[in-house]
Amino acid sequence: MTQPTPDIRTKPPCSREDALAVLTRLREQKHIAYFAGGCVRDELLGRTPKDYDVATDAAPDRVRRLFPRTQAVGQAFGVILVRQGGSVVEVATFRSDGNYGDGRRPDTVTFSTPEHDAQRRDFTINGLFLDPLDNGRVIDFVGGQADLQSRTLRAIGDPAQRFAEDHLRLLRAVRFAARFDLTIEPATAAAILRDAPLLKRISPERIADELRLALTPPTRSLAWRLLWEFRLGQTAFRSPPFFPAPSTDPERSLFLRVSPGRPITLGLALAGAALDLQIQAGNEVPAIVQKKHLHSLIHALRHSLKISNDESEEMQYTFEALGPLLADEPPALAALKRFRARPVADNTQSLLDALQDGGQHVMRIDELRPRLAALDAVDCAPAPLITGDDLTAAGLMPGPVFKRVLDAVYDAQLEGRIGIRAEGLAMALQLARKPV
Ligand code: ATP
Ligand code: MG
Repeated sequence: MTQPTPDIRTKPPCSREDALAVLTRLREQKHIAYFAGGCVRDELLGRTPKDYDVATDAAPDRVRRLFPRTQAVGQAFGVILVRQGGSVVEVATFRSDGNYGDGRRPDTVTFSTPEHDAQRRDFTINGLFLDPLDNGRVIDFVGGQADLQSRTLRAIGDPAQRFAEDHLRLLRAVRFAARFDLTIEPATAAAILRDAPLLKRISPERIADELRLALTPPTRSLAWRLLWEFRLGQTAFRSPPFFPAPSTDPERSLFLRVSPGRPITLGLALAGAALDLQIQAGNEVPAIVQKKHLHSLIHALRHSLKISNDESEEMQYTFEALGPLLADEPPALAALKRFRARPVADNTQSLLDALQDGGQHVMRIDELRPRLAALDAVDCAPAPLITGDDLTAAGLMPGPVFKRVLDAVYDAQLEGRIGIRAEGLAMALQLARKPV
């Protein structure tokens, strides 16, 4: 039976047990093999790694011969995926990276030693190896243990050179510093600040991947502050509506008030970020949430960050629901029920909470709160009493009038003004006869 092709970016996480089995087999064959990178860092921090990677001196061909089920995903980089138990274990041959011609990845790699392999990694905390077959001995060529202990994020080697090689490391620095609450060591920090403009050369997809990791966990508040402190935000959010790039003031930041301490989705994070940046650029909330303005904003954001359709729709729905809730006229009961029935209503409510916390629309949101809470135990999306088929059966011609009539009848149903189908039909016929 052929195995489905694992994609290295979406491969299932690998358990310690399965990685250990692969590592043990390599060692039985007299190879060097260690746990490497993020999993070592996480174990030393007392956290459960989401993934285990194995590094070895066995060349990729050799790895493929040693295991029955493998796939070369980056053989040029020495990376082989090994299926083991329920996991896909990433096995990488120790390597040194050659010249970086494109600011993203090395032109060549040569297979080398653990020490050189540690040196091609990005930050000292990510440059550690661990030998699980020798009492968890840590093999540290880069001072990563001391940096973990003192909670320091430090580039391995010359920071300027490392960011020039691969510009994505600029964002990775922010992500790791925020995730583990690390202080960025001064030379590394100075290099990030100086090289921040290089981020422009990184593709929107890769930037979005990093933002997804940085801006969705509870540690996003520090990531957000660091993004602007290091002037990476301007490039990451390079949509024209944000120009001229606002200087963001963390104290006034709406983003920091969105569901603090809780994980959120990228859709909500981006809606919060966009709202924050628009407010900080001097726009008023009612103007921002106006349909036309909002759509151009969302379009631009979608264009500058290549995110999935689901994420993009979630961002749009989260954001656009604010309009009717904050319009001059308070929303009627039907509008509130329609809002609550949307799958992203909780997201939009997080934005409302954030706005109120920041002193915006305080009275309106105070008014909405008990009204929305009262709907928690209510079915906000009952089946409509009548449908288009009923209108056709009653002799009406399908057309734009259908939507107008059905919307009005459904609103009446949601507000309890009508309760049975006959009342719905009577209302529909009366409305259909009325000129618009
Ligand atoms: P996470 O828990 O978020 O997956 P991680 O440390 O495992 O964190 P990965 O992106 O999975 O991060 O990469 C695995 C390891 O590969 C890193 O720990 C690091 O040693 C190395 N690495 C990854 N990306 C880079 C890069 N752009 N430059 C240098 N080394 C890198
Ligand atoms: Mg990882």
